Amino acid sequence: MAHLKGGGQRHHKVLIVGGGSGGITVASQLLRASPGLDVAILEPAAVHEYQSGWILAGAGLLPYEATHRPESAVIPAGAVWIQDRATAFEPEAQRVITEAGETLSYDVLVVAMGLQLNWSAIKGLPEGLGHHGIVSNYSYAHIAATWETIRGFQGGTALFTHPATPIKCGGAPQKVMYLADDIFQATSGVGVNTRVIFCSALAQLYPVKAYNATVERVAARRGIEVLLRHNLIEVRPEEQVAVFEVRQEGRDPFREEISFDLLHVVPPMAAPDVVAQSPLAIKGQGGWVDVDRLTCQHKRFADVFALGDVSSLPTAKSLAAIRGQAPVLVANLLAQLDGRPLEAHYDGYTACPLITSFHSVVMAEFDYNLQPVSSFLVDPTQERWSMWLVETRVFPWVYWHRVLMGRLHESRFLKPFAPLVRWFGLALKES
Ligand SMILES: Cc1cc2nc3c(=O)[nH]c(=O)nc-3n(C[C@H](O)[C@H](O)[C@H](O)COP(=O)(O)OP(=O)(O)OC[C@H]3O[C@@H](n4cnc5c(N)ncnc54)[C@H](O)[C@@H]3O)c2cc1C
Repeated sequence: MAHLKGGGQRHHKVLIVGGGSGGITVASQLLRASPGLDVAILEPAAVHEYQSGWILAGAGLLPYEATHRPESAVIPAGAVWIQDRATAFEPEAQRVITEAGETLSYDVLVVAMGLQLNWSAIKGLPEGLGHHGIVSNYSYAHIAATWETIRGFQGGTALFTHPATPIKCGGAPQKVMYLADDIFQATSGVGVNTRVIFCSALAQLYPVKAYNATVERVAARRGIEVLLRHNLIEVRPEEQVAVFEVRQEGRDPFREEISFDLLHVVPPMAAPDVVAQSPLAIKGQGGWVDVDRLTCQHKRFADVFALGDVSSLPTAKSLAAIRGQAPVLVANLLAQLDGRPLEAHYDGYTACPLITSFHSVVMAEFDYNLQPVSSFLVDPTQERWSMWLVETRVFPWVYWHRVLMGRLHESRFLKPFAPLVRWFGLALKES
């Protein structure tokens, strides 16, 4: 792996912008399919993050160190790492401009820059986060404090929010709540004195009908109040007041204030500004890179592809989705380079391991049709201890050793382990 920093002009056959989950997975799969291919990765961060592990790390279920590694350790052999940041896209000229002033030209561009968290879109939040009971597991810097706050909670009102925008891992706002509720219930005197409220800007708890029914049952069993169409727009930290814009059918939007003792915030999210302001974006719709839902190819620039959180692919944004998208993108990118038709198609596969307690997970997998699918040959709508083991024990290893290595070409990648998982399930007489 060559490691370059800034300056001048350079050309690469394949330029990948973003060395996160999607960028590294694509680079690895490309180099496995076509050894010797000229692949460069433009990535400013020195550290690669396994964000899916943040909820687990925050709950003491995974060491913090297991959620990140040096970027240099995940760049595949044969790829060039340019440690710099994209500041402009000029797709008409097949160029990307970097912060260090370098011009990078390419034959094919892959955009894998993830999304940006807009903390400042909520008035009072940037100043308040980390104080007065306001926490978030969506920032690595705040995970430890979040969990300390939850564990030290002495009772009162605990609010958990879900914003109005698309977010990465749509289930994560609920996962942290269910784990926190377990802690409240186990802490003497706290469970009985605590009101847990889930305030979501969405119209239902989870956007897929079959899984929505399951989490509705979980919330009801726990006595959690669910306030839908409640979008957090402001916090007043010192008063410990959260302000929501409420949009109910048949009524004008109105504001509602709720006092809290603990507030877990998931901020609004959008495409990074540099993408949203570029010709690659769909204007006015989050600024996502405008790609074909089947091929991952840009709708106007045939030499541009995108995957992951930054893409317009109309499925739930997740690492699991990248497992489905990467092999399709790689096959189509190689076809594009060879002048062949693009024949690989993405079916919208995505997944969200919905952690519903300290011993159960609903492995919510689905596709573009919002129909449940299962990699494990078990009913995916049920809470299972076996899926808990998969989420907490298997997935972290699989991420570092299979996904990032480009060794996972099947989206339903755990099928070979299905008999083992099923055996666990039967052995434990799961519900
Ligand atoms: C708390 C939490 C829990 C989650 N849980 C799950 C889960 O259980 N299951 C699941 O499937 N998914 C989960 N996810 C979602 C998953 O982590 C993301 O969907 C996934 O990381 C998206 O990959 P990506 O490559 O699109 O973006 P990222 O992995 O975010 O990578 C984007 C990369 O682009 C780089 N970049 C940014 N700007 C620039 C620039 N200007 N120039 C160059 N590079 C740039 C960044 O430094 C970063 O390395 C979770 C996420 C969070 C935050």
